[in-house]
Amino acid sequence: MASFEEGGKTFVEHPHEGSLEVKYGLPPEVKFCTNCVISNQRPSSAAEFRHRPDSKKTTIGFDDAGMCDACRYAERKNAAVDWREREAKLRELCDRYRSRNGSYDCLVPGSGGKDSVFASHTLKAEYGMHPLTCTWAPHLYTNVGWRNFENWIHKGGFDNYLFTPNGEIHRKLTRLAYINLLHPFQPFILGQKNFAPKVAQRFDLPLVFYGENEAEYGNPIGENTEAQRRAEYFSAETGDLDSIYLGGVPLSRMPEHGIEPTQLEPYLPADPAALDAGEIEVHYLGYYLKWTPQQNYYYAVEHIQFEANSERTEGTYSKYNSIDDKTDPFHYWTTLVKFGIGRATYDASQEIRNRHIERDEAVALVRRYDEEFPRKYFPEFLEYLSLDEEEFFDIADRFRSPHLWRKTNEGWELRHKVA
Ligand SMILES: [Zn+2]
Repeated sequence: MASFEEGGKTFVEHPHEGSLEVKYGLPPEVKFCTNCVISNQRPSSAAEFRHRPDSKKTTIGFDDAGMCDACRYAERKNAAVDWREREAKLRELCDRYRSRNGSYDCLVPGSGGKDSVFASHTLKAEYGMHPLTCTWAPHLYTNVGWRNFENWIHKGGFDNYLFTPNGEIHRKLTRLAYINLLHPFQPFILGQKNFAPKVAQRFDLPLVFYGENEAEYGNPIGENTEAQRRAEYFSAETGDLDSIYLGGVPLSRMPEHGIEPTQLEPYLPADPAALDAGEIEVHYLGYYLKWTPQQNYYYAVEHIQFEANSERTEGTYSKYNSIDDKTDPFHYWTTLVKFGIGRATYDASQEIRNRHIERDEAVALVRRYDEEFPRKYFPEFLEYLSLDEEEFFDIADRFRSPHLWRKTNEGWELRHKVA
């Protein structure tokens, strides 16, 4: 397919429709992984602080056989990893840091979802650790999410620091991130990511455990072989207010939106010096223990009476992934708009890699659910963003890349669907 650059933009030639713009630096030709159902339009999680409205994305790698990086990694995980050796390394690590008097010896950040339940409970029950847990609150708790959070702490038996950012500021940032980036979760993601190292610093905890490496889902494959998270993941050159963007707005211009830069402390990185000096080690439990979301779910049901939803989540077929925030389905809906990849695609791809479903079943699930609009909490989300329905969809439509979407009399239609 012929693509060309003009005026700083990329276009592809369509046989009947002329030149179609390709936004965000996405690959002009859409391809789907031969093993899972993800497409080559899936962005790698970029340096979020650099995320400006005109930022170009890097996307998931595909090899010559048409397989995506995430599948290649899963293959390696299923075959080549010596899990007994990895587990022994975890035991050594815990032996090095375990407290003798019962005081906290590690930090487990989490929401009380199945993965943080598994991580914290396993460290305590199997490895004799004394985790402190910490949580960055969701935008709008669901009832089931709140019950699971409470059960984690009450039935799991953990101390927890729950941090809830200033609701007025968080709402303004989320609104800006929706309007400027169609990425309403960006402020949440940044705040959550930077929260744990700060808690670790404050409590002088030398060891932080995350669950799985988000790289498993499509970041550069080289990062997946590391047990430790690199310090630069958390740090950013925070000196210059114009180099940091939140919601697509440089910090220096926040006062125009009724936000003072000093109010943004919760979203900014911890002092990188402590991380660079190795005073805090950040590890992925998923490097040491084979990480299977479905198994974590069963584990959480058994140990803290974790509840799945009574009905499937809109936009997908699953009932127990990320169910604590009413706004969560809109995160996936915006990735559908920008990249043509909705929530069912993420869920089904992961389940293929964990060998729970076959590809043809995944294709059917994606075709059935991926484009479903999340109606259930839509009125609450509109109120949260201070937008009316028309504004909400007008903004979203500006982010549809013409190489992915065609407008018909019935509405928007994806040009390329997984098959
Ligand atoms: Zn794949």
